[in-house]
Amino acid sequence: MPADPAHVLILGGTTEARRLAEALTAAPGSPRVTTSLAGRVTSPVLPPGETRIGGFGGPEGLAAWIAAHRVTHLVDATHPFAERMSFNAAQAAALSGVRLLALRRPGWTPGPGDDWHFTDSLAGAATALPGLGTRAFLTTGRMGLHSFAHLTEPWFLVRSVDPPAGAVPPRLEVLLARGPFTLADERELLARHRIDLLVTKDSGGSATSPKLTAAREAGIPVLVVRRPAVPEGVRQTPSVGEVLDWLSA
Ligand code: NAP
Repeated sequence: MPADPAHVLILGGTTEARRLAEALTAAPGSPRVTTSLAGRVTSPVLPPGETRIGGFGGPEGLAAWIAAHRVTHLVDATHPFAERMSFNAAQAAALSGVRLLALRRPGWTPGPGDDWHFTDSLAGAATALPGLGTRAFLTTGRMGLHSFAHLTEPWFLVRSVDPPAGAVPPRLEVLLARGPFTLADERELLARHRIDLLVTKDSGGSATSPKLTAAREAGIPVLVVRRPAVPEGVRQTPSVGEVLDWLSA
């Protein structure tokens, strides 16, 4: 029996996932490519190729989808903080026997002049935060705002694509905007809102790193939430090129 034609399922929601879909669909003799999005953003920028939106129903649901759509290669290109989905991908790959590679951007590291403070979770950030500043630029994402909802201090600035839903801190201003943001944008934002503390996840990558440079220049401390654990035994790469090599091997 002839082997199934290649069908790559990209678990997306990141710039890297979109870049991979663009590279794969642009290549001559490109395979079938489907990008899966969780459906968190109301009007997502859709990548080329096929797309599907919404959860699969856990690892078993993902394994069933893989079998039903004859997926040959699974690429976990979700955000480094999409911990559950990465574990689901590893489990689904084991259940279905499909090959799995994680495309994950490296984390950030502090340089000379940085005043970074580390914590392991959003709850840890909420505990550490009041002692570090009075006007905080909170860039940890709108989905986790409930972790800070009990804090009356500091005042918060939150920037997100869609408005926050659920519990939020009482002293909060929301700025609706979609990145990437330039260093000039970030300098202006910190100055305009008199920000004295930046709170961020260690997302890595260049699309959202100018805020770190702007904070360093302004002498502002940064509270960094460390990355969650990754599933053991899953091969990882930071490079779209390496994923292409893996697919063509
Ligand atoms: P998560 O906590 O790891 O996943 C929660 C559930 O959402 C999963 O169990 C899965 O539901 C569904 N899901 C997640 N990613 C999916 C995808 N690409 N396609 C289909 N279903 C998906 O994920 P999260 O942290 O909420 O992130 C959700 C999405 O936003 C991801 O695509 C991620 O790349 C993107 N994102 C996340 C962050 C962040 O800071 N967490 C930042 C930027 C972008 P089922 O179990 O039902 O399959």
